[in-house]
Amino acid sequence: MGKETGAIGLMGGTFNPIHYGHLVTAEAARDAFHLDRVIFIPSGQPPHKPPEVLASAEHRYLMTFLAIAPNMHFELSRVEIDRQGPSYTSDTLAYFHRMDSTVDWYFISGADAILEIASWHYPEDIFRYAHLIAASRPGYSLSRIHAVAAELGAEKVDRIHQLEVPALAISSSQVRERLRLGLSIKYLVPEAVEHYIEKNQLYQHAP
Ligand code: ATP
Ligand code: MG
Repeated sequence: MGKETGAIGLMGGTFNPIHYGHLVTAEAARDAFHLDRVIFIPSGQPPHKPPEVLASAEHRYLMTFLAIAPNMHFELSRVEIDRQGPSYTSDTLAYFHRMDSTVDWYFISGADAILEIASWHYPEDIFRYAHLIAASRPGYSLSRIHAVAAELGAEKVDRIHQLEVPALAISSSQVRERLRLGLSIKYLVPEAVEHYIEKNQLYQHAP
């Protein structure tokens, strides 16, 4: 194992369910930015997601656990699940910064999510407590990312780092839709997640 760099990745998401797009993105970020580890943070109550298609927080947490277990550099946090009220990234980054202000925290996000950052709760705090890694994602262009950051303040631009990820055009929405239609989700999610979904009969019904 290499020497510790003092940089740690934070991978937030609804993970409804977790899929290989999330895992590839986190691993690519770990490599490119020499992160000691990546902590996955399933959201408790995602403010931007319709609740009717949302599996319970415990189901999403356990599926994330199953998916990351084989990677010794991946960890899992309950911080958003255990917090009351909507899950805001700003609160989460403030929490990790409070836990250890000597660490360089890197919040990892896909192109779709990060382009919306101006509409997030307290974007100031997000930039204050972490670097942002903007990962490419099929179907979304990162060309506007610096313009979006600049609108929030010129100094923000330096806090955003772009990352080219091997393209996996997978989304949780697509996985849920396939399950609803009775189609296979093999090779889109880890096998243990596929089995967990089957065992608990998740996402079988129309939203
Ligand atoms: P949904 O379709 O329900 O919105 P999703 O696949 O977008 O699900 P999220 O849990 O919303 O998954 O995403 C968590 C984070 O992972 C976001 O920052 C998102 O941009 C990123 N992400 C998800 N899928 C990919 C992918 N295939 N490639 C790169 N980044 C991804
Ligand atoms: Mg999404």
